[in-house]
Amino acid sequence: MTEKLSAETSLRGYAGVLTTQKLPYGLVPAELCPVIHCVKSLNHLADRDVVALNPNGYVRTLFRVASEHNVLFATDRCNSFCLMCSQPPRDVDDSDRLSEHLRLIELIDPRTREMGITGGEPTLLKDGLIHIVRKCKEFLPQTAIHILSNGRLFYYGSYAHNLAEVGHTDLMVGIPLYADTDHEHDYIVQSRGAFDETMVGFQNLGRHGVAVEVRVVTHRLTVHRLENLAEFIYRNLPFAAHVAFMGLETVGFAVPNIETLWVDPWDYRHELEQATRYLADRGMHVSIYNHQLCTLPVSIWTYSRMSISDWKNEYLPICSACTARERCGGFFSSSIRARHSEHIGPFEVLPA
Ligand code: SF4
Repeated sequence: MTEKLSAETSLRGYAGVLTTQKLPYGLVPAELCPVIHCVKSLNHLADRDVVALNPNGYVRTLFRVASEHNVLFATDRCNSFCLMCSQPPRDVDDSDRLSEHLRLIELIDPRTREMGITGGEPTLLKDGLIHIVRKCKEFLPQTAIHILSNGRLFYYGSYAHNLAEVGHTDLMVGIPLYADTDHEHDYIVQSRGAFDETMVGFQNLGRHGVAVEVRVVTHRLTVHRLENLAEFIYRNLPFAAHVAFMGLETVGFAVPNIETLWVDPWDYRHELEQATRYLADRGMHVSIYNHQLCTLPVSIWTYSRMSISDWKNEYLPICSACTARERCGGFFSSSIRARHSEHIGPFEVLPA
């Protein structure tokens, strides 16, 4: 809180106190509400942001009103173990987090345009995920909900049916597909049988009218079959609302696996161009995420999006001289530190 706390301050209606002030012991009785004081700075927070106060003094920012990239972290657990997982799973019992998620939804600004639900694997909450989506529909009716899932539990038609039954009118499930062959997809997600489950999951969601997005992370193990994968998607998932080709984020498991995964985007630019054009020419909605424009053929610039979350998006010093800077998605902060294309170069004039 920004106002100066004194014995006269009324804390009626406050769920907790977070302040930079040093408070005398007992000024706010512990039974009234939780207090964290002597915080170094609150400058990153704004009115209507939502934070969680932990008894050990740890403060988690759960929602930022100024951000376009808010997500609800459903669970730390996952039933896959992808080689490039950016949020490595933890096998913990976090079933008690559901009540926190439901409370968070009540506190989020209802004018929020979009919110993600991610993890871990959100479907491991099973009916809990259905409750979350139902609560979003009730409290955030204007907010588009985008669930990131490996899709495997939608293999169970009843689960896809239950999600559809919520009747959320602006809901999409984004599901990764890494290859058009089962053994390659299963190897990348480190789970035998995942490809079959995911494909049935896609079909079940489509059958029940839930919008799906196909997400393809581009790295050394996926780029050699990008064109085959594009054809596979067109023939088997023509109902997909969106297909996203996504550059690698060098965090999490991608760090120890970098030599296995890394390929300069410049080296697969033609494969990416063919795959993108193949789908777009057949009327599918395609996007390219996490790529720098100077690594892409100009013919597919129109599909490139500014996709990297604001808090982890950076540019190289040479980018300040680039006329494409305003249209370019830039870099993950982690990629700037770890590895990026050797073909980054500013445009003096924008290509026609
Ligand atoms: S030089 Fe920088 S801003 Fe320009 S296209 Fe390349 S990465 Fe983007």
